[in-house]
Amino acid sequence: MDADRLISDRCKGVQASGIRRVFELGAQLTNPIDLSIGQPDFPVPDPVKRAAIEAIEQNRNGYTLSQGVPALRQACSKRIADDLGWPSDTGAPQSDVGLMVTTGTSGALFLMMMALLSPGDEIIIPDPYFVAYPSMASICGGVAVRCDTYPDFRMTAERVEPLITKRTKAVLLNSPGNPTGVVMSQRECRELLELCRRKGIVLISDEIYDEFCFADAQEAGNGGGVCPSPAREPNSHNDVLVIRGFGKTYGCTGWRMGFVAGPKWLITEMTKMQQFTYVCAPAPLQWGCVPTFDVDMAPTVQRYAKRRDMVTQRLGEVTDVARPGGAFYAFVKVPGRMNMTGQQFFEKALQRNLLLIPGGVFSDRDTHFRISYATAPDKLERGLEVLVELMKQ
Ligand code: PMP
Repeated sequence: MDADRLISDRCKGVQASGIRRVFELGAQLTNPIDLSIGQPDFPVPDPVKRAAIEAIEQNRNGYTLSQGVPALRQACSKRIADDLGWPSDTGAPQSDVGLMVTTGTSGALFLMMMALLSPGDEIIIPDPYFVAYPSMASICGGVAVRCDTYPDFRMTAERVEPLITKRTKAVLLNSPGNPTGVVMSQRECRELLELCRRKGIVLISDEIYDEFCFADAQEAGNGGGVCPSPAREPNSHNDVLVIRGFGKTYGCTGWRMGFVAGPKWLITEMTKMQQFTYVCAPAPLQWGCVPTFDVDMAPTVQRYAKRRDMVTQRLGEVTDVARPGGAFYAFVKVPGRMNMTGQQFFEKALQRNLLLIPGGVFSDRDTHFRISYATAPDKLERGLEVLVELMKQ
């Protein structure tokens, strides 16, 4: 068969993920110091495991409503109401907030782009970006317009405004961000939302790392410190689509669980897309996620904040690192004196059995690399040691 003729242009237009290539390389090394993996190093909390196991044993394994099982929708809706001050999604036809359980945050992102982008339509994404953003946009026929956020990695209204055209449908913000860990301030979020409102476009807020927001990046609100978000602005449920996930927060990335809340008209269209693609998120794992909001992740987040400090202290001596306020990544500049691209530095690190991700995987530039500190402190310490040695040269 002529595979080349048979394969779609859509598929040909997408390259295999650069992160996958690093995974494959890593599999060939013996006992590498692996700072490449963007997944938490703690087990799923017991009550969450038990809820999923019980659901399977009690035969709750069939299809669910496209929007998700009512118990999880209610838990998510309560969370959004308590945390952001949004009206609850009562499920009533007149409610103006919608909420849907999705197959990972990726599922929510994909359905959002399916619902918003016609061929040639634009969505503005940060550069550096989460690897899936541009490919998803192109699969949906749209164009991901990059907003250059170097060197401080802040996607400000000032940087976004000149990129808005007649084809722009949405701006996609990711704070705390992958690959940089940078957290926007509430003022920056507000200004970005005001810009989107002025231009009549949707602000998408990918908040998959919302729980991993360290004390120094939090701002006062809701009776304590909270992670800044455009969804905290008054009446933002009319123009902000919030995407959150369970995988990173509760160590269950393989469960493929997330949820999305926002303007009812948009969630209704996304639900239609869900019906004919994913159908519903995995039923027993939806039940598994019901108790998640009762689990206190604060001790884990504090441990991660300590690791963040290790990274910024050690690497700050030899190069520039924009201080991560959250997530579990740092985006590190290859010092100019080394005269090397991110890819070349990655290869040099590989010779020392150290796995990173070259910055070009996340960006039009190839000047940085990403490390993940979702790894045991002794391993992280060894990795930092190697990095400092390499960059001292
Ligand atoms: N958004 C961002 C910013 C991410 O970093 C990731 C995963 N690395 C995702 C979305 C996708 O997450 P999920 O596994 O929930 O689909």
